[in-house]
Order: sequence, then structure tokens, then C-alpha cells
Amino acid sequence: MRTLTFPGGIHPPYNKDISLAEPLRTAPLPDRVIIPLSQHIGAPAEVCVEKGAYVEEGQLIGRAKGFISSNVHSSVFGTVKDITDAFHPTLGNVLSVIIERDKEKDPGVYPEKDAEALMPAELIEKVKRAGIVGMGGAAFPTHVKLSVPEGKKINTVIINGAECEPYLTCDHALMTRKTHEILKGIELMIRILEPAKVYLAIEDNKKAPIFAFEKLLKKIKARALARLELVSLKTKYPQGGEKQLIKAIAGKEVPPGKLPLDIGFLVQNVGTVYAVYEAAYMDKPLTERVVTISGDCLNRPGNYLVKIGTTIRDVVERYGLEIYRSPEKIIVGGPMTGFAQPAMDAPIIKGTSGVLFLSEHVAKDFEEHQCIRCAKCIDACPVNLLPTEIMRNVDLENWEKVKELFVEDCIECGACAYICPARIPLVHYIKIGKDKLKKSSEG
Ligand code: SF4
Ligand code: SF4
Repeated sequence: MRTLTFPGGIHPPYNKDISLAEPLRTAPLPDRVIIPLSQHIGAPAEVCVEKGAYVEEGQLIGRAKGFISSNVHSSVFGTVKDITDAFHPTLGNVLSVIIERDKEKDPGVYPEKDAEALMPAELIEKVKRAGIVGMGGAAFPTHVKLSVPEGKKINTVIINGAECEPYLTCDHALMTRKTHEILKGIELMIRILEPAKVYLAIEDNKKAPIFAFEKLLKKIKARALARLELVSLKTKYPQGGEKQLIKAIAGKEVPPGKLPLDIGFLVQNVGTVYAVYEAAYMDKPLTERVVTISGDCLNRPGNYLVKIGTTIRDVVERYGLEIYRSPEKIIVGGPMTGFAQPAMDAPIIKGTSGVLFLSEHVAKDFEEHQCIRCAKCIDACPVNLLPTEIMRNVDLENWEKVKELFVEDCIECGACAYICPARIPLVHYIKIGKDKLKKSSEG
């Protein structure tokens, strides 16, 4: 098997073992779920239930509105207690459906059915109906990604099992436990897109999933999987970025301002592929996901199957986790690109890969010093930007120069800020630059 990588990048402490010590766990259901109508890129879903209504698990409660949008379903049986603004892990207050769970009802069961005869359009419709979005964090509606515009063709699909953010191991757990189902999901992707080549890309620190796929691929004789190649990637951050994967595997660059689609590529996270399998074979909407709960402040870090809408507080309490050290930061997502939370009120949503409880020792904010022109940020940047120059020109409000420095190509991976010895929050400056340019282009 080939081991590949991209230029640049960094090697932060990965701290993945701490959440891999125990197997994937499912926990008691919460008494109440808070389900935001916006859990995806695009227009929020339009609420289609009323306060006081009884809803079933998997019932549509928010209908996709517009082309780039996604359906939202109830994750439990219960009664709609309220439809109101509630705290969201990344967007502040967002219109949400609050459902009190019916404690008399057991969770739904979704038996596997035959999906072999489904045509590409029917599969995409099932993905759309199930409200599937990119589960690696981007939360872009998957049915839109799979609906390739006329005149374009996907030649290469990359299934992203890199999971390069420190601490996060939800994809690792899923790949080890649901190997067969993920391969069935990959077959569905092949049926929909008919690419010439498919890569399943996993970082080389994930020995168990690589072994599981190698073993199963030797056994399976499915014709569609003949075009699948398992590739191992060097463990390096941000190896799981779409552009970095394409560079590492195919040696191709996505031109500035363009999408992978423009050069015939499509990258899909393994968790999303598993959700596609569930939608096609089980008619199961996206109502739960695997979440890594980790950090150096709590006992029993691990991977948990969590109902969408369960609050962070309920995850901790229901799963019997003990926070034995006061966290300096609670982060939703990974430590490099995640969102710090003011409290534990936010719900788990479709794009929540992890919740981290990090002590001062790990997540301390450092004092910013003057740039020492060491160029470490430039070496680390995976998209060949000059972060230090961008920072200097943002400071000078020289927006024309900021544009010339291709700030809009920054993927906000945080590698530059992480490596900077002067502790300059480079991503903060970059976001200001991007924001300014976006506003001026909108007039
Ligand atoms: S400039 Fe952007 S893409 Fe480059 S390292 Fe910094 S955050 Fe990542
Ligand atoms: S890494 Fe920090 S100190 Fe070094 S050049 Fe970049 S901004 Fe300056």
C-alpha cells in the first residue's frame, strides 16, 4: 500500500489514544432534545410541525428550503414542547424544535432492506430525504454534492478517513466497527457517480481501520470495488483537507477560487458514506452520530453514539462522565478548527465530530509578541500562503495587497498560528481580511 502526503503541515500532539481505549458506546436517551433547523451550509430548514404535536423518531420536522438546504428530523419519539431560538454550537441562537421524549417508547429500529436495484436518481433522492450533510464538520448538503451539474464529470472520488485533527477518533471508531457498511456505502457512491477511480484514504496512525479494510477487501468480490484503492496517508495536520488529499493522492492542485469538482474530484467523509448506506439500505434519516468526547478533564473519554439534539450537558450526565478538573475550554470539533463554548447548553448537531474538555495546561491562551520573521508559518501553510505578510497588511488595512496575497484561499486550518513562536493569532487576522474582502465584493 502506498503512503502519501502533501507539502507543508504540522505535527501537533495527536492525543488520540485517550478516546480509543474503550469501544463505541451507546447511552441512555436524553429526556429532551433541542434540534436546530440550521445544521448545514445553506438556507435553514422550514419548520413543519406545530407546538404540542406528537412526533415519531425519524419524522420530518424541518423541510429543506431552496436548493442548498437540508431536511431535519426528530431524533426521538415525543412531544414538541416549543419552537424557539436556542443556543447552537457555532451560530449563536438559532430557531430550534424542542422535543420532550416519550419515555414509554423504545428507540426506532431500522431493518436492512435490499437497495441493489436503486438507480442513481433514486439514491440521491433517498440521501436528500434523509437530510444527510457532510459529517466531517463542513455540513454541506450531500445530495447537492452528489448532483453533479450537466457538463461536469467526477473522475475520481476520495473517501476521507484521514481524521487529522488531534483528539478526534469518531471516524476511526466508525471505520473499525462499520467496515462492511462503509464499503457498501462506497459502492453506492460508485453507482451514483461512476468515477473511474476511488481512493479510501486513511492516515497511517489508524492501524486498526486500515487492517479491517484490507482484510475485508481481500474477501469481497464486488465488481464495483475493483476500482477502489486503499491508500495510507502520512499522519500530518491538515491531511484531511480536501485540497490536501487531492494533492497527496493525485498530485493535482485545485486552482485558486475553484472547487474539487472543477478538476473532476469529489471528496466525501467516511461518516457521510456510512449515513448514505443507512439512508439507502435502511431508510434511516440522519438522527444520530458518533461523537468523540475527550480531553484531559474528564474520566472515560471515548466515542459515543449520540442522538442529534442531545445537549453537551446531557451527554456528560447521562453517560456518567465525571469532569474532575475545571476545563479552561470546552470545544466543539477539534482543537485546531473547533468552536469554544461558553457553557454546556449547545446540542450535538449533524456536523459535531467531537466535544473536548481541555485544561489550562493544554488550551491556555498565550500572550502575543512581535513577529521574528522566522518563516515557520510559511513552511507550515499547506496552501502556500504567506500568513505573516497577510497579517502585516491586515494590520495596515492594505486590503488590495491582502487580496493579492490570496487570503481567500486560506482553509483556516490554523497550522500557521499553531507553529508561530511569537504566538500571533494569524487566523484571526486572516478572518478579518477575508471578511473585509467579502463585504467589499458584496458592495
Ligand atoms: S494561512 Fe490559512 S491555510 Fe495557511 S496555515 Fe494559516 S490557516 Fe492554514
Ligand atoms: S511564524 Fe510567527 S514569528 Fe515566524 S514569521 Fe510567521 S508570524 Fe512571524
